[in-house]
Amino acid sequence: MRQPGGSAGGTDPRLALFDHHIHSERSDGTVSLAVRASTVSVRPHGVSDHFPWPGKMRDDDDVLRYLDDAARLGLRVGLEYDLGVAPPLRATTRASLHYVIGALHQLEVDGVRVPFDEAGAFLKGKLASFSERERFSDGALARRIRERMLEVVRASLDRDGIDILGHSTMSPLAALGDPERAYPPEWQEQLIHLCLAADVAIEVNEAYGVPHREFLERARRMGARFSVGSDTHGKLAPLDKTTAMIAAASLPHERFLAGERVHAAR
Ligand SMILES: [Zn+2]
Ligand SMILES: [Zn+2]
Repeated sequence: MRQPGGSAGGTDPRLALFDHHIHSERSDGTVSLAVRASTVSVRPHGVSDHFPWPGKMRDDDDVLRYLDDAARLGLRVGLEYDLGVAPPLRATTRASLHYVIGALHQLEVDGVRVPFDEAGAFLKGKLASFSERERFSDGALARRIRERMLEVVRASLDRDGIDILGHSTMSPLAALGDPERAYPPEWQEQLIHLCLAADVAIEVNEAYGVPHREFLERARRMGARFSVGSDTHGKLAPLDKTTAMIAAASLPHERFLAGERVHAAR
């Protein structure tokens, strides 16, 4: 845990930004809501468990129970809504939440399901190598994945009331190691445009280290909003990678969300 009041006796600027993306036992995290509530004094953060999640987050009733339980502990409460997969939530449920993160964890490409799990584990440093490198290096498949990513995001942002696009470039293409090549600039601009049009913030994701610097710089130049997301599943750790990513891309702190949506829930 970071010691309070560190450098120069002032407020550490790294502590000021609100961390929207944190899991608990209510989906695949290992920590209870009560323990999560105890760490908001370390840095401001909410909770945003997966929806859906088998046996735990199945429908509106589960989400509303989660919201009640977490809010009673003083937490800001979001969801990580599984883009392209999650069933729709009632508008009233979405409006009750403080924010909704939308994120892709798989795609259906021409009838074939493409899971992002192995690529994600590799980007998180949990795997030493990415076994499907050769498959995803195929130019035609990569192009279809990029097209499908835009389609699913485009279809979902407005319809599902998304406030934050979580780990937006995490996919098997990012695991190839050169995201500026895997995602041509025109594609990046299209994705950023979708976020701008829906007034959706772009997450700076600590766990996967995405999006890469050039993407964040483009998003800054185009006027995007941003959001900090550690994607913590266990113990809360410092936002070291996020701090470096924000500094490298010169992202202004006033463009970051602060634990609540900036437009009325849709
Ligand atoms: Zn995720
Ligand atoms: Zn997550």
